[in-house]
Amino acid sequence: MQLRRRKYRWDRITLVGGTFMLLIISLAAWIAPDSASADEGLALQHPRAVISVEEEQAQASSSQASSSDSALRPDPAAKSTSEDEEVKPCSCNRHVLKLPKNPYTDHQVAARNLPNSFFVKDKGEMEAGKRRGDLVPVHDGRGYHITALSHSYAVLLPEVQALLAEMGNAFADELEGTGSEGTRFRVTSLTRTERQQARLGRRNYNAFNGTSTHSYGASFDIAYTDRPSNDSDCSAPTRAIQNVLRSFQKKGRILVIPEKSCMHITLRR
Ligand SMILES: [Zn+2]
Repeated sequence: MQLRRRKYRWDRITLVGGTFMLLIISLAAWIAPDSASADEGLALQHPRAVISVEEEQAQASSSQASSSDSALRPDPAAKSTSEDEEVKPCSCNRHVLKLPKNPYTDHQVAARNLPNSFFVKDKGEMEAGKRRGDLVPVHDGRGYHITALSHSYAVLLPEVQALLAEMGNAFADELEGTGSEGTRFRVTSLTRTERQQARLGRRNYNAFNGTSTHSYGASFDIAYTDRPSNDSDCSAPTRAIQNVLRSFQKKGRILVIPEKSCMHITLRR
């Protein structure tokens, strides 16, 4: 009886031990690469979470711009000449420009009170708004240009489009006849549908309550000024955009939120 029990137990131990070894070997093979990539994912994710979406857009568009610039260079051998040097954009954000911040609730009230403004729920409503003439397409103009947009449409309420054109002219006027003539400010975000907003929502502090003023066609963001060449530095364009924003804000024409990576502008009537 004793002998039989001992024999039975050794069989079990061999079986369990063998299975256990197999399990360990296969686990080691599977877990090692998985956990490594998981760590890598976390390490990459952390700094990204701190970057706001508008900043990401700005970075994406600026890298797009520089890559397409280099693709358009006619002669790669001419790279070393100063004429073909990359022209770096000049930043327009709260770190560079000193302007008072208007509370976001004021932006929301202003956006809702603009004539014919409506909540642009989806692309269909955006298109319908365009057909009614409540939203108008926005193209590059004097003193400003529109970047490639990934999270918004290039449409605005007519009054806001007129404001943008007026600010573009004021900016161009500031620099006319100077070494920085021809510099344009870069609009990086315009009208967002609810879905586009939702894709930004969690990380964009301007999107709280799900009612961003961008969803009313009432706001746009300026993130950079772009010089025609490196002949002049960023000081004049930066001073010019600061003067324009400050004077429009003082006159009560616009509300401003200086953000980490852009200036958020809403028309005020
Ligand atoms: Zn904005």
